[in-house]
Amino acid sequence: MKAKNLLKAKIERLYRMDKESDRYRVCLNDGVEFMANDRREKHCCPECADEYSNEKKRLAKLEEQQSLIETEEVLNEIIEQINNEEKNLKILDQFHLKANGSKFNMDYLSSIGFDFFSNNGKGELFNIDPQLNCHFIQIGSYRLYRVEFSEVLIKKII
Ligand SMILES: [Zn+2]
Repeated sequence: MKAKNLLKAKIERLYRMDKESDRYRVCLNDGVEFMANDRREKHCCPECADEYSNEKKRLAKLEEQQSLIETEEVLNEIIEQINNEEKNLKILDQFHLKANGSKFNMDYLSSIGFDFFSNNGKGELFNIDPQLNCHFIQIGSYRLYRVEFSEVLIKKII
């Protein structure tokens, strides 16, 4: 609600103020009470109608900008995720893995930029107590199994 606009036109009101009447209005823009000459009136004067409509447009534009910013943030997150997955794959491709997998220290992997959270999914391990909530993660055609507290077994699957 805006402060009263001193420049607004004085409209001659044809009806006596009566809050019970269906012509009674409270201006959507500045809260001024008035009796509508025309039942379609929602604002006490054209200036208020303009101000109200401009404010609505301004808010709609702001909302649109906000939604664009949010979309951009989501896209940036997706791009970052893809970049991290590519980086992970490059690191994994450098390793000469034994056929049944090779063990790596997790701190070492982190130190060379490996990101365990950027993966293509994880799978359950069925040969382990389910209460331990053990999973392998998959990155491209690699599977990573956490075999010790700070060690992962990396295996290439075909
Ligand atoms: Zn008004």
